[in-house]
Amino acid sequence: MGLATSASPAHTATPHADKRRSGFIELRDLVKVYKTPAGEFTALKSLNVEVGKGEFIAVIGKSGSGKSTFINMITGIDRPTSGEVWIGGTAIHNLNETQMAKWRGKNLGIVFQFFQLLPTLTLLENIVLAMELNGQHDKKTRRERAMQLLELVEMAEQANKLPSAVSGGQQQRVAIARALANDPPLIVADEPTGSLDSKTADKIFLLFEKLVASGKTILVVTHDNNQVKRANRTIVISDGEIVNEYLVQALAALTQDQLVEVKRKVKPLIYPAGSTIVRQGETGDKFYIITQGQVDVLIDRPDGSQVLVNQLHEGQYFGEMALLGSGLRTATVRASIDSEVGVVALDSAAFNALIAESHSLRDELSIIIQQRQMIEQVQLISTIPEGKLLALTQHLASETYAPNATVIRQGTIGDSFYIIVEGEADVVQDQPDGSQKVINHLRRGQYFGELALLGNKRRTASVRAAASGTLKVVTLSKEEFDTLVQTSDSFRQHVEEVQRTRK
Ligand code: ADP
Ligand code: MG
Repeated sequence: MGLATSASPAHTATPHADKRRSGFIELRDLVKVYKTPAGEFTALKSLNVEVGKGEFIAVIGKSGSGKSTFINMITGIDRPTSGEVWIGGTAIHNLNETQMAKWRGKNLGIVFQFFQLLPTLTLLENIVLAMELNGQHDKKTRRERAMQLLELVEMAEQANKLPSAVSGGQQQRVAIARALANDPPLIVADEPTGSLDSKTADKIFLLFEKLVASGKTILVVTHDNNQVKRANRTIVISDGEIVNEYLVQALAALTQDQLVEVKRKVKPLIYPAGSTIVRQGETGDKFYIITQGQVDVLIDRPDGSQVLVNQLHEGQYFGEMALLGSGLRTATVRASIDSEVGVVALDSAAFNALIAESHSLRDELSIIIQQRQMIEQVQLISTIPEGKLLALTQHLASETYAPNATVIRQGTIGDSFYIIVEGEADVVQDQPDGSQKVINHLRRGQYFGELALLGNKRRTASVRAAASGTLKVVTLSKEEFDTLVQTSDSFRQHVEEVQRTRK
């Protein structure tokens, strides 16, 4: 993805010479090395980032990870050792100081942790000064516009006070108004709420949300987990590197520290288009997160054919079922035939350690597994046309029964259909002498309850969880069952066939 390294000087640079340079902000192979008495220190290790117009990005990471260095490359406060910084088609890394100041005045609003308002000027004058320095707007409109900005940040009533006469949070709101003085498309803030209480921080972020809604692009460094959620994208920096954003997305349940740990332990792998990543039945020893491309999830049918049960893409994971269950892969996962697939893999020991540590990830995984098992089972028995599958399976519910617990009782009115996801079930029928007789034994992938839905109304037999273990079933309402019969020819045929043998 490298661009020409001998970029032309900024004033002659053609913004769209390279079509791939589509992002509003583009950082290419960005490296920052600090020279210290103790030697060289690489604070940024070849960062590649693209930011679209209108994005609201939270930049997070431990203290010393490189957040400020990263931000300073974008604002031009500091220069990269190598690599490129493009913003709105301008090569920032090539600007000299004069060009930089001019560019910044028009295009960038900067907000710092300590508000840095000039103490001898009133709040209003601080904003007017920012406009004067940039030579924008004529004299008369400057004051007017400054007042409007103070209104925007709800500080108009204090316009003529000195900074020292208002609170920290209020000063920061004025600093934001000042950053907006020249109506820049981009606002960059380095820990703007770092010295404010959480209620005040809330107000600042609310203001950012408002600005993003009005079309601004905002990058904000923050330590505050509650505020991170307001951004629509998170960039995690760890040891001068950006943690893969799909990894962050996939493991959103983790804390920042846990994420950084995972990042240190994962191994990136590439699979050619169409190649098999995991195979059903094999022992599984890795957990995978997709960082590029798409995979097909396939399950073997008893007759040896395979059914496509799911498709997963960037930011989703697979391989968790074997690690949390029997140890054997429950499905085959293959790179889609269209393009190669990139994953990051976590070995089972690291995965187990993570699960032990994170309740929220564990909870999320159990929900995901349940959902996937349901989709797989429904797909396995019905082969619903692609596209209709998700619509049908999105709201499926599952139920779990203890050994010997009754699921449906003979003679009652039936209104649900059941597919076995885990465990086994006995079908029993009442005998004239009052005893019960097991007439069938059902396993994973088999179903029951259809006869009543097909017209018999009353259950013709009882079904209970086998004595050997718990039974987990997907339940479909009569309506969902009817949809299944209507959308899937194979399911309808199968049901009719089974119906003949069960009657
Ligand atoms: P953060 O903002 O995430 O806390 P910084 O970007 O400020 O981190 O710093 C990243 C690393 O670079 C730190 O280890 C810091 O000590 C080092 N560093 C930052 N600025 C300089 C500098 N001017 N000279 C030498 N080292 C620096
Ligand atoms: Mg910092």
